[in-house]
Amino acid sequence: MKWIIGAFLHETNNFSVVSTDLDAFRAQTFKTGDEIIEWARGTETPIGGFIDSIEERGDLIITTAAAAATPSGLVTRDAYDTVSNTILNGISRHQDADGVLLDLHGAMMADGIDDGEGHLLKKIREIYNPNRPVVVVLDLHSHVTHKMLTHATMLIGYQTYPHTDTYERGVEAAGIIARIAEEKISPVYAVEQPLILPPCSTCNTQSGLYSSLWKEALRSHRPAGILSTSLFAGFPHADHPDAGFTVLSYATDNATAKNETDHLSEILMKRRAEFRYSPTSIPDAVAQAISSPQKPVIISDMSDNPGGGSSNDSVEILKELLRRNQADAAVATIYDPETVKSAIAAGVGNPIAARLGAKTDRLHGTPLDIKAVVENLVDGRFQYKGPMTRGAWGNMGQTAVLNIAGIRAIVTSERIQARDPEMFRVCGVEPATIGILVVKSAVHFRAGFKDIAGKIIVADGPGLTAADLTLMPYKRIRRPMFPIDDI
Ligand SMILES: [Zn+2]
Repeated sequence: MKWIIGAFLHETNNFSVVSTDLDAFRAQTFKTGDEIIEWARGTETPIGGFIDSIEERGDLIITTAAAAATPSGLVTRDAYDTVSNTILNGISRHQDADGVLLDLHGAMMADGIDDGEGHLLKKIREIYNPNRPVVVVLDLHSHVTHKMLTHATMLIGYQTYPHTDTYERGVEAAGIIARIAEEKISPVYAVEQPLILPPCSTCNTQSGLYSSLWKEALRSHRPAGILSTSLFAGFPHADHPDAGFTVLSYATDNATAKNETDHLSEILMKRRAEFRYSPTSIPDAVAQAISSPQKPVIISDMSDNPGGGSSNDSVEILKELLRRNQADAAVATIYDPETVKSAIAAGVGNPIAARLGAKTDRLHGTPLDIKAVVENLVDGRFQYKGPMTRGAWGNMGQTAVLNIAGIRAIVTSERIQARDPEMFRVCGVEPATIGILVVKSAVHFRAGFKDIAGKIIVADGPGLTAADLTLMPYKRIRRPMFPIDDI
């Protein structure tokens, strides 16, 4: 058999002023044709799962495009059309393929297109045999839309946050599409979209309500007719009319699918108060970190998480560490290409003075005037070695390690979530030996840092990914939406 594969991932925070052009994709991932296989084979990603499964069966792979950029503002129409058309052209040239397997995010917005994935799936249906399956793996931070549900044969969401099961979902999708193509199963779905939009930090699947819901969804005694259930938590850092929770079940018959979504939605509604969040201020977070006997303490700078579209350049926690004379600390990452250029011009071992951070907008605090020593300069390429997307490559861009009164600041030329210890190590900083590590990540860091973290503290500062969603100027989401509104 013959399968078309592609990947197009962007989580769009349309509150961000940073537009997402083709260069933003090129900086992280933009591959076409056979280079996709080279790039993705052996990686713990959905597309890595597609490739392994298809090759194991001895089937044929048709590659199209694989593109991913760090979350940020709207995708430019040029970037959206370039990647989409590469996927569409690949499909139109291979009408005889038995199915299409896609690795998409589910929260992509482009200029003039609210529903990036639904729009692409509709276009695919316009050119591809309507009787052949199109199966999509989605991030659990998806806005699941009517268009996506209508034009995909099946949507399969990640089951873990941190997302450590992306490869398994790719394998699952590649297995299920073969059963559909061979007419062994014919899935139908039921969906419930209650008015709940949880802050990301309350959706860690290691504990809490979201974890209980998943346990129930995947219980061993669930009805035999269920083929797949997804619990999409939604993506709260976007002003999108379909933002919110989605309970989606595919089954062999309508009644089984509906009973399952009803059952899970009932638990969700009953226990929704567990999605309320209590913030910890930056001064409190730093004070707790200093007094903790368990080291290293990881402070999550959740409100400035570039993994959710923040600017990646807040220096508010760094300021508090300096104010408290806390030298045994490191911060990853601070996006500031201008300061990196100054560091390169000065050279390793030399002093620089710079105005650091908070250059993107006025929503991530204020800059910090520093005097520092350039401790290291690296090209910023690294391979993820933690349990999330192990084997895939990341790019911080040209990167400078600055020593600011003893604190190591990893200053980058690309925006990227600090979710893997490797991002410290390629800079010559061994994270396990440092007392306080500040990471710009909301939840994903918990996977990569779990073996070295003595204690984890989540700090709430200014930023576009703040957990207090009442701060966001939403205009288009459905209301009342819990926990922003009381329902
Ligand atoms: Zn996600």
